[in-house]
Amino acid sequence: MIQPELSLSGSAQSLPTTRTMYRALSRRDAAYEGVFFTCVKTTGIFCRPTCRAKRPKPENVEFFPSINEALHGGYRPCRLCRPMDSTKPVPPLVERLRRAVEESAEGRVSDKDLAAMGIEPSTARRQFQSYHGMTFHAYQRARRMGLALRDVKAGKAVIDVQLARGYESTSGFREAFTRVFGTPPRGAKAGQCLLAQRMETPLGTMLALADELSLRLLEFANRRGLERELVLLRRRLKCAIVPGSNAVLAETQRQLTRYFAGESLAFDLPLAPVGSDFQRRVWAELQRIPAGRTRSYKEMAARVRLPNGHRAVARANGSNMLALVIPCHRVIRSDGDLCGYAGGVWRKQRLLEHEQKYTRAMATKRHNKSQKELGP
Ligand SMILES: [Zn+2]
Repeated sequence: MIQPELSLSGSAQSLPTTRTMYRALSRRDAAYEGVFFTCVKTTGIFCRPTCRAKRPKPENVEFFPSINEALHGGYRPCRLCRPMDSTKPVPPLVERLRRAVEESAEGRVSDKDLAAMGIEPSTARRQFQSYHGMTFHAYQRARRMGLALRDVKAGKAVIDVQLARGYESTSGFREAFTRVFGTPPRGAKAGQCLLAQRMETPLGTMLALADELSLRLLEFANRRGLERELVLLRRRLKCAIVPGSNAVLAETQRQLTRYFAGESLAFDLPLAPVGSDFQRRVWAELQRIPAGRTRSYKEMAARVRLPNGHRAVARANGSNMLALVIPCHRVIRSDGDLCGYAGGVWRKQRLLEHEQKYTRAMATKRHNKSQKELGP
């Protein structure tokens, strides 16, 4: 894993060094409130730096910069220090909702379930959002995805029986993995599966999916719409998604590390994106935008010979499932506005800054080299 302080530093999402954070948590240093969250691997719980609970061993701890990342890491909020709660007392309804998520077999609490509990769904949604600044829907999704991704990280064997067994010990989330990634179709061989691997980057966790021949998906794990993309891939390719790794994924990880370390921004991976002819045309055009440069939706539309098609281009851009590798983050509005990014506009900005910094550094290097060759 790349340490956040090595590159892309100085933003809200980067963390102090692990040593600093562990020292802060040992001292229960309140100055670090909101800077990081402590996640305890052995209990699956995340805490504030100031939690009164027994200090976990360093090897059992990982740190995340935000609640969202901690949830996607597969952790639930501690009942002692209540890292998701402000100083205002937790409304009993919000507490009930969170408990309902933990207790539900699928990690999903529907409006019908709420009605059965005697709770008015719209009231529940409003209270949850106003207290946490996060929708109840987003919370459930993050929790489900986080638990499923934990298994992906563990790289469990490609056997569904084992998958099921892995969940017997956890809370009510036995189904989390299969809900997110689907069940292997009856009689499907391991070779027909898409393998899923979790990859850590300085901009947060990513999920990569590949078959034996090519990369099918690379996305930030908390990207909106990720579950929808997984369903789409499963349907189109008629396969299940199981945790594991192969040569394509190992190479993806290697190139991703080089990209974030600023060693090389170029990706050279076998890709097989799933999409319509038009989408694939747009994606091919995206791959022609050099690193460190941007293009407007309008320019892109002209290049795919659809002069008034900037909206269609924007849609195709948004449905790209191969983040970074197909650089949809290099498309901005003609007035310079960054516009949207499913992985979050802050990420788009950081990616563009990272690429510009790198290209400038390379240009300087080339310039110095040619000066040297010319001699005094
Ligand atoms: Zn705690």
